[in-house]
Amino acid sequence: MESSTTLRQWIFDTLKAPKVNYYQKSLEEIAKIPAGQKPRLLLHACCGPCSCFPLTFLCEHFDVTIYYNNSNIYLESEYDRRRDGLKKLLKDIKEDYAYDVRLIVPAYDNALYNKDLAPYADAREGGERCLVCYRKRMKEAYDFAEKEGYDYFCTVMTISRQKNSQVLNRIGKELEEQDHHKTKYFYSDFKKNNGIEIGRQMRIHYGLYNQLYCGCIYTYQDGLRRQKEHEIMENASENECLSTDSQK
Ligand code: SF4
Repeated sequence: MESSTTLRQWIFDTLKAPKVNYYQKSLEEIAKIPAGQKPRLLLHACCGPCSCFPLTFLCEHFDVTIYYNNSNIYLESEYDRRRDGLKKLLKDIKEDYAYDVRLIVPAYDNALYNKDLAPYADAREGGERCLVCYRKRMKEAYDFAEKEGYDYFCTVMTISRQKNSQVLNRIGKELEEQDHHKTKYFYSDFKKNNGIEIGRQMRIHYGLYNQLYCGCIYTYQDGLRRQKEHEIMENASENECLSTDSQK
């Protein structure tokens, strides 16, 4: 287990370094693909909404398989709901765009996964706990890609407003350099090229379930707390109106 200080320093160094244009890097990589070829790419995906734009971007150039390894998600019913939304998206885009994307779903074990997150329970979203979580899921999927001989590995997570693309791509680069020498890491910044807005419109068009919290038990609890606070505020303003009315 890495100390919180080490992880914080890693994030600090990444954010303070000159920004890399990962969108440009993705275009440069695509330009290297010989005409008429579609390399095999394994794409880590966390849900349907986050996959919409990355799939339209990637499927034109790659033979894409999705790896849905997301044991971070608490509760299992939520994990199932996100997986089913992803399945629906794949079915719909096959009909609309003729993208034939396969889906691989490894075993789910949130209790085991949480053992690695628990030491950083108090970290804010985007901090040490998330760094551990990004690395863990990316490594699991990247290991699979390497073992199965994929040409590229990529994650959809760079589409998320809450997730820093510099952080995610540095993780990918480090994983590639450490022990993934056959499968190339595909740099991405799916936020660019109007990705967030296109993804939002696709999510609405396909009627995909849109989750209310990132995934882990900590964001689930934060969500419940926020919901409770909202209800208390609403009740308070309702009571205020009633007492004002009764004084009339
Ligand atoms: S907030 Fe999201 S990325 Fe961060 S630890 Fe929780 S599930 Fe993982």
